[in-house]
Parts: sequence; structure tokens; C-alpha cells
Amino acid sequence: MSIKYDYLIVGSGLFGATFANRAKAQGKTVLVIDKRNHQGGNIYCENIEGINVHKYGPHIFHTNDKTIWDFVNSFVEFNRFTYTPVANYKGELYSLPFNMNTFYQLWKTKTPKEAKEIIHKQIAENPIASPRNLEEQALSLVGKDIYEKLIKGYTEKQWGRKATELPAFIIKRLPLRYTFDNNYFNDKYQGIPIGGYNKLIDGLLDGIEVKLGIDFFAGQDTYRNIANKIIYTGKLDEYFGYSLGHLQYRSLAFEHQILNTDNYQGSAAVNYTDYETPYTRIVEHKHFEFGKQEKTVITKEFPLEWDSEKEPYYPINDTRNEDLANQYKKLKELEQNVIFGGRLAEYKYYDMHQVIGAALAIAKKELQ
Ligand code: FAD
Ligand code: UDP
Repeated sequence: MSIKYDYLIVGSGLFGATFANRAKAQGKTVLVIDKRNHQGGNIYCENIEGINVHKYGPHIFHTNDKTIWDFVNSFVEFNRFTYTPVANYKGELYSLPFNMNTFYQLWKTKTPKEAKEIIHKQIAENPIASPRNLEEQALSLVGKDIYEKLIKGYTEKQWGRKATELPAFIIKRLPLRYTFDNNYFNDKYQGIPIGGYNKLIDGLLDGIEVKLGIDFFAGQDTYRNIANKIIYTGKLDEYFGYSLGHLQYRSLAFEHQILNTDNYQGSAAVNYTDYETPYTRIVEHKHFEFGKQEKTVITKEFPLEWDSEKEPYYPINDTRNEDLANQYKKLKELEQNVIFGGRLAEYKYYDMHQVIGAALAIAKKELQ
């Protein structure tokens, strides 16, 4: 087959769509393919009962980087949604992230001094100089009570592994603050696209040729030589035919329900932090956009072990998988005319703004 495009982009998620957008802006010819029957990757929303349902889990955009914020807002305006999920531990409700509201709910402490005394006492009772895993990291940051009620159960069901077998960095994603502030994120900018995430993807891919329902590996002969360069955003190990072995992922099952009530739980997300409840959270989608619809749509999120029939949602960044990913990354350096990017191809626990940032940086280098 003759070369028809400057770039073939495998995957229409945020990485692929951002790169495609920049390439088109530079006058390059681009074809995007995706094996799913819709574009957008994991930020895709389906409209049900007039509500934008986040089909692959709740997505809240947040960033400290004004360039990235301005970039996404140039395609769609974002609302002022602030993520303030609630934790339900065996019927008791707690504010997240860990803040003065949470401490009052746990211990009735009213001042930062009182809360710090309790947390520091719990940390001192079990001193950990250099945390080697998630459990040790959590205990050394927040002490025993918060760890046992709000972290251990959620984490172990989310990852299907003991907290002692998980890397410490995962828990550093959650803020600990001594103010009455339930904002889950510390970033300066936060919100949801008004009208849903599909508007962001539609904007990024405006005027770009996209073919859906096409698996790059099923039609390699057709697509491998269709462009001068490939931007690959699929799984890293799959690209190399799993030659060094399989990387592991964590998968999820989503159970969506339409309910005949206008407000089911009063929050976009309630996390179930005990180990016994089989789902990690219930998401009520209308709250992302302050919806006033008569009905509501909720989603229960069940963590699952990944196999080749399931979607690979989270890379598992433990030592075994990190070592394997590093070996694949050496192979990737030898590939001519292929750029690997995004959560799957870099095997990285990336947020949306980080994926966009990485795609913009690569596009700048590549297209200058
Ligand atoms: P993806 O969105 O996974 O896109 C990759 C695309 O490539 C997919 O469409 C896939 O079908 C396609 N593809 C793969 N292989 C092939 C192939 N062989 N042939 C053709 N197409 C292929 N980030 C935040 O910032 N805030 C949040 O609140 C947040 N919540 C999240 C919640 C969950 C449950 C999950 C799983 C992630 C969350 N994220 C969040 C992260 C966010 O989803 C990612 O950072 C971002 O969507 C990754 O974009 P991507 O383009 O790298 O990958
Ligand atoms: N976490 C927790 N309790 C909660 C929420 C999160 O222990 O109520 C832990 C859990 O280990 C999770 C990590 O914090 O994997 C990061 O949480 P975040 O909400 O950032 O996860 P995401 O779903 O965005 O990956």
C-alpha cells in the first residue's frame, strides 16, 4: 500500500486526539484509527436520560498548568465543578480528601492543633522512617485510624493486592490538609466540559479523518505502511507481541442504573471504603454538570483482575511490572518511525492533563 498520510494515529483517546490536532494545525495529513466504536478513549460519555454518563469511570479535569487549561478551554468551556467525594465506611460518612471535616467526623476535633496531635501521636506509635509500600506510606502520613477506615479496604479491593505489596506513590495522590476544605484536588484549575467530554474530543478531532472499529493489530498490513510515522497509544506489551511476557493491569466492571429519582446520593461520588462492599464507589453522573433532569443515572464500579477480554484501565506499577515495562521501553527505542504515548503505551498512571501535556510536548518536538 502506498503512503497516504504523514501520521497514522492508533487510538483516539486524549493523547491521540491532542497529537492529531497539533499535526493538523501544522498542515500535516492524519488518519486516526480506534478499535472501539466511538472516539475519545476513556473520557467518552454516553447520553442517557439527558445526562452525560462517564462510561469508563468518573473523569474530573484538573491542572496547575495554565497553558493546558487554556488549551482545553479553547475547544469547550469548562464549568466550575469541584470534586468533593464522600466516603462511606460501614454506614458512617466521612469527607474526602482527609481534612478538618474528616477529622471532626472521626474524632470530634475542632482545631488543626487538636487534629495534628492525634495524627502525630498515631504516627509516633508506629514510626516508619522510609516507607517501602503503600501501607507504610499511609501510616506514616495519616496514622492508623484514617488508614484503617478510609484507605486499607478501598485500596486492597481497588488493586486486588495487599497494601503492603503496592507502591507508596499511589497514596500520595490524596491530599491531607488542616483546613475545612473538601476539594479533592489541590490544582488551580478544575472543571468538567460544559456539555460533556465528547465536546472536547470532537473539538480536538474537528476536520480529522477517524476510522472506528479498527484494531491496528488486525489490519497491520493495511495500516502499518499507510503513513510516514505512527503515533501508537495502545498497550506497550501488545505492540511487541507480548514477546517479553504480559504486563498486568487492573480492570473495572461498570454497572449502570437509571433511577426514578432526581437526586440519589447528593454527590457525584460516594466511595465505599470497607473491604466487604464489592464495589469501590457509586457515581451519580448528573452532579458533574449540576443536572436538573427528573431521573438520575448511577454507576457502581467493581474492580476486577484484568485478562485479555477486559479493558486495561490501570497499569500496576509494582516492581515486577515496572521492570518488565522498562525492558519493553528499551525495545521501543529501537523502533523506527513510531512514537509511543499515553497511559497504555507508556504504562503510566497518567491523569488527563498529564496526557495532554505529554502529547503537546511530543507534538512540539516532532512538528517544529
Ligand atoms: P485512552 O483513553 O485509553 O485511549 C487509548 C485509545 O486507544 C482507546 O480508545 C483504545 O480503544 C485505543 N486502542 C488501543 N489499542 C488499540 C489498537 N490496537 N488499535 C486501535 N485502537 C486501539 N484522569 C483525570 O485527569 N481525572 C480523573 O478524574 C480521571 N479519572 C479516571 C477514572 C478511571 C476509572 C480511569 C481508568 C482513568 C481516569 N483518569 C482520570 C485517567 C484518564 O482516563 C487518562 O489519563 C486518559 O484518558 C488517557 O488517555 P490516553 O489517550 O492515554 O488513553
Ligand atoms: N484511595 C483510598 N480511599 C479513597 C480514595 C482513594 O484509599 O476513598 C486510595 C486508593 O489506593 C487509590 C488512590 O488512593 O488507588 C488514589 O486515588 P484516586 O482517587 O486518585 O484514584 P483514581 O481512581 O483517580 O486512580
